[in-house]
Amino acid sequence: MPITVEHVTHFLSVAAKLIHAHRDELTALDAAIGDADHGANLDRGLAAVLARLPAVADKDIGTVLKTTGMTIVSTVGGASGPLYGTAFVRAGMALADRHELGAEDVALALEAALDGIVARGKAQRGEKTMVDALAPAIDALRAALAAGQPLDHALQVAAAAAQDGALATIPMLAMKGRASYLGERSIGHQDPGATSTAYILRALAMTCSRSEEVA
Ligand code: ADP
Ligand code: MG
Repeated sequence: MPITVEHVTHFLSVAAKLIHAHRDELTALDAAIGDADHGANLDRGLAAVLARLPAVADKDIGTVLKTTGMTIVSTVGGASGPLYGTAFVRAGMALADRHELGAEDVALALEAALDGIVARGKAQRGEKTMVDALAPAIDALRAALAAGQPLDHALQVAAAAAQDGALATIPMLAMKGRASYLGERSIGHQDPGATSTAYILRALAMTCSRSEEVA
């Protein structure tokens, strides 16, 4: 059941749809502890990615992901544009020239994405950022794969861990980005970037369950 470039483009279109559907929710979360632009930012960026996909649909998976990252950097403003952009570019670099992926490749690409976010934003776990959704998702993915679970199931476990991670940001004190300016007043609100990361991982899990069906 290899993952192909068709699965990757399908994942990006599902992610764009999910973010679009939750745009107002993400913006409301950012209104509470930021500047109310996260949903609109990401929705605009992923719409631009979808517009670019036909031009790279016959390329390797690494090229599709690098193009995605560069498009996000150039269309999504704020903190999350460079962070998500770096994440997709790093994942693309980890998968350069690849046309088919297995479970280990998916795990390595997510680890490269997290490394890129941390290299750029310097956030540790527990600082109320997207890292608090992505890092536990990767832990859950690795544990599920090590226990012998198939990739589609392991990604569902990872997506659930990302969702739990996003909810776990509510009691955290923001230490990075705009929300950190609020100090103690950031406590009690769910982080918008952790929430959007959970939606993107849900899109990945949905795509890979589909790949089981089409394989
Ligand atoms: P901005 O804060 O510039 O308006 P967005 O609203 O698009 O940017 O994104 C805010 C999100 O970016 C936060 O909810 C948080 O998850 C994430 N973020 C901000 N700074 C960092 C950082 N240094 N490392 C990781 N994620 C960060
Ligand atoms: Mg914002």
